[in-house]
Amino acid sequence: MKIVDLHCDTISAIYDKDEQLLENSGHFDIRRAQKANIKVQVFALFTMPVESNLALRQILKQIDKYHFEMAKNAEHLYQVSRYSDIETPDNRQKIGCILHLEGGEALGSDIEILRILYRLGLRSLGLTWNNRNYLADGLYEGEKASGLSVKGREVITEMNKLGILLDLSHLAVKGFYEALEYYQYPLMVSHANARALCDHWRNLDDRQLKALARNGGVVGINQVADFVKEDGNCQLDDLIDHIVYIAGLIGIEHVGLGSDFDGADHVVLPGVEQYEGLELQLFKRGFSPKEVDMILSENALRVIKAVI
Ligand SMILES: [Zn+2]
Repeated sequence: MKIVDLHCDTISAIYDKDEQLLENSGHFDIRRAQKANIKVQVFALFTMPVESNLALRQILKQIDKYHFEMAKNAEHLYQVSRYSDIETPDNRQKIGCILHLEGGEALGSDIEILRILYRLGLRSLGLTWNNRNYLADGLYEGEKASGLSVKGREVITEMNKLGILLDLSHLAVKGFYEALEYYQYPLMVSHANARALCDHWRNLDDRQLKALARNGGVVGINQVADFVKEDGNCQLDDLIDHIVYIAGLIGIEHVGLGSDFDGADHVVLPGVEQYEGLELQLFKRGFSPKEVDMILSENALRVIKAVI
């Protein structure tokens, strides 16, 4: 079955390590992604939160790396600018790549930068990483975190106009609910799990999951070990427990995949090529072929289609 993965940090990782997308030492490369039947991959751009001009320079250099890799591997990859690109017959055997910015530091408080990044291919944005920025507070701000700033709301308005996917991973809880109000499309939490099963501050509680369901959105199940089990000692079945729990709570149509490959050292599957194991295990746990297809790709595609 085809797979849509809503989050990996591979572009940032290979930029930092000066490696290649075709084959590399990380969790994800083209050769292994082809084996795993990856249909669409969301590639995050990430820099540690720094002053916005510096963040923008670093993000632009990663975008340069992204376009270099896209051009070099054009026989294997295509850039998803609009949903119809995914359905183009020429692209059927290739991997669709969606460019995502993880944290709005690079925007500073300038909407113009968002429009320029859109022209450079950006189709997905998370307002914050864990820290506070001009747009909103991230989860590091803790219990006292605020919601969206006026700029944050303006950015969402512009995202509505342009058609940019909104990702609520890392956003503090108050902003999470505000973003649901201002954003006009189904949205995603691209890489997070259920807090009821693993009490990690990045995971979603039941109330957040229910709000996401009302919005028609999707949560990408995160493979980082600490997000799966509190002691970080976890197997594939522990990951599937999150899928079973979330599907039971809010409906299977809201569950997708967001590996966080190359975003952390300890992930459940040692690499993208192991996705087949997840598929087999979902069948063993009693999901029907239709349900497995929904989890692996269809739910995520529904959200992508609604926005871009
Ligand atoms: Zn992240």
